[in-house]
Amino acid sequence: MSQRTAEEIAEAVQRRSVRFPLVTGIVEVVAVDRVSPKMARIGFAGSVLDEMPHDEPGEIATFIWPDEGREVVLPISGSWRFPPGAEGQHWRNYTVRRLRRGVPGHGTVLEADFVLHGDHGRATRWAGQAAVGQRLGIAGPRLHWVSDPEAEWSLLVGDETALPAIAATLEQLPRGHRALAFVEVDGPEEQQAIDAVCDADVVWLSRDGAPAGTGTRLVDAVRAAELPSGRGKVWAAGESMAIRDVREHLRDERGVDPETMQAIGYWRHRETPEDVI
Ligand SMILES: Cc1cc2nc3c(=O)[nH]c(=O)nc-3n(C[C@H](O)[C@H](O)[C@H](O)COP(=O)(O)OP(=O)(O)OC[C@H]3O[C@@H](n4cnc5c(N)ncnc54)[C@H](O)[C@@H]3O)c2cc1C
Repeated sequence: MSQRTAEEIAEAVQRRSVRFPLVTGIVEVVAVDRVSPKMARIGFAGSVLDEMPHDEPGEIATFIWPDEGREVVLPISGSWRFPPGAEGQHWRNYTVRRLRRGVPGHGTVLEADFVLHGDHGRATRWAGQAAVGQRLGIAGPRLHWVSDPEAEWSLLVGDETALPAIAATLEQLPRGHRALAFVEVDGPEEQQAIDAVCDADVVWLSRDGAPAGTGTRLVDAVRAAELPSGRGKVWAAGESMAIRDVREHLRDERGVDPETMQAIGYWRHRETPEDVI
């Protein structure tokens, strides 16, 4: 990826902050693969994707699943409100791992990586049995990572739900850019090959069988890390409490300017599977 100027980035952010979601529609599953035992890569196609902008790595797409026996209801474009009477829609945010244009037979294909975290979440349950031909609603995308052309290095931190964004970002950072990533996963079998051209150092943190969203591995690893000097950019996402610890450590103990940091809770660990959002 060529380095863009500050003006080009500011223009993209301005253009994209006008309204959300930019695009709503129906997509169809065209490919289902396993990246690792607990990560399903699902490819979606649909004419709506031709209109989907893709300015930055790791953009956010919202998928919509209707209740059994119901049709997908799409939010009103540009407002993120469902029309009156729209009930029984489950929607969750996922990351655009890759958007490929001009795929023969499909046009634009959006790939998203779904963590298979058990059978107590509707999105994950769906992903575990996804099959070619199934249809979902989609709304989005939303910018997530915003490049900082002045940054001399990047720090990327997250659990497996953030891995699609971390991998997409590492694959787009330019040659010579120093990037340090800490990724917490279930175990070594969940590590992925990342096709980065930047100067990337990916540290995999294994939970060794402990449940996701427990423990302090991410903040402990960041605390022990030596960060390069010069202007950096920090991006972190994953279980909310784990990311809060990382954000507070960097801000309060390392003096990282919150302006240079994006740290987002993606999901919240619950004590019981019944205790759903
Ligand atoms: C901007 C953004 C981008 C995201 N990108 C991705 C992505 O690319 N890939 C991806 O897999 N996820 C991603 N997530 C996280 C995903 O949206 C959540 O994990 C979501 O809760 C899954 O929905 P669900 O219907 O399966 O479960 P929910 O109905 O939301 O939750 C059911 C139960 O499952 C638990 N749970 C939820 N997620 C996990 C998990 N990962 N591990 C263990 N327990 C869990 C909850 O604590 C709850 O008890 C993203 C989230 C955000 C906000």
